Amino acid sequence: MKRKILCVLLISILLSTYNIKVLAASVDSLNKSKSQAEAGKSEAQAQLNSIQSEKKSAMEEVSEISSQMSAVQAEIDGLQSQLDELNNSISTKESEIEEKEKDIEAKQELLKTRLVAMYKNGNISYLDVLLGSSNYIDMIASYDAVKEIADADTNLINQITAEKGELEEKKKELEEQKKQVDTIKEEKEAKNQQLAAKKAEKDARVSQLTADEKAKQAEIDKFNSAIASADAEIRRQVEAAKRSSSSSSSSSSSSSGTSYSSGGRGSGSLGWPLPSRYASYSYITSYYGRRAQPTAGASTNHGAIDIGVSYQPVYAAESGVVVTATYVSGYGNFIMIWHRSRGELYTCYAHLSQYLVSSGSSVSRGQQIAVSGNTGISTGPHLHFEVRSGGSSSGCRVDPLNYLSL
Ligand SMILES: [Zn+2]
Repeated sequence: MKRKILCVLLISILLSTYNIKVLAASVDSLNKSKSQAEAGKSEAQAQLNSIQSEKKSAMEEVSEISSQMSAVQAEIDGLQSQLDELNNSISTKESEIEEKEKDIEAKQELLKTRLVAMYKNGNISYLDVLLGSSNYIDMIASYDAVKEIADADTNLINQITAEKGELEEKKKELEEQKKQVDTIKEEKEAKNQQLAAKKAEKDARVSQLTADEKAKQAEIDKFNSAIASADAEIRRQVEAAKRSSSSSSSSSSSSSGTSYSSGGRGSGSLGWPLPSRYASYSYITSYYGRRAQPTAGASTNHGAIDIGVSYQPVYAAESGVVVTATYVSGYGNFIMIWHRSRGELYTCYAHLSQYLVSSGSSVSRGQQIAVSGNTGISTGPHLHFEVRSGGSSSGCRVDPLNYLSL
């Protein structure tokens, strides 16, 4: 007998703590998934930081390469204008040489004409005509004069030829210079091409890192929303708990105006757990305290009141959270509600025929939670109604009549 009672006590203690643990476990698991998301976020953040620092240095390299390329390009441009100048000088020299050539040709033509006239014709009258001399002496003198002219022509041709040679020499020098500048320019262009290839490589790396950065940021956003939704869910559960406390405390102050702990029979503020037509001492079939055992397995120290009704709606005596709604040996179908707003205050409903709520549900005062019945150790249909103050264990059972507003 005693063992059975002990069992009932133990089971009810275990079950009530179990259900509180279930509620705490829900918040615990939310906190756990939040921590996991936070850990994932820190990892992703660390990766993002390294991506961003690599990107930063890659971009610095790109900018360094770009300025090197600009410098090399400026050198190339300088070399190009040197080349342009050299080309101009060379073509100037070329046209000067051409002029000299024409000049030489013309002078040679003239000289040839004169020499031909002098030697082949040997014709004084031609010379006469040429020089306007009218006698032999004059002719001789004129001959000398022609020779002088021919000599002068030859000298001039030699001089021009020498000048042309100088020009050609100069032109050669310019061409040599041009060749050198061309070589330097080609080297610079090759260097610039190398730089451009390096830059293209770095540019590709920067784009890759930018894509990585974007993906990592999206990952972090995902973690952030997981953290936010875990937070919101935790907040929602806390708010729900708060709401049920505020609704119960407001109804407690308005319903009877007396404190639940004021003592005295029926002077409390808990609501009657059955339809109001049964709200009468005449329905109480068993009071709190020591009693004769009504049936085998039933307690002799009754920690509750029994209300003799058949299958009737059972109402929550106060707002709270259902911490237990399960079959308990002895109690039968059993509900325990924690009225968190009142600290460690619980109400229990036993021998129920039907549950309308489950563990973890929030209930409001006067809400139907069950149908009374005859399950467990019971002599007939009745509602066994317990109040536990200071904790959920059966050792905390107090006289419900001190808490009810009967
Ligand atoms: Zn009872």
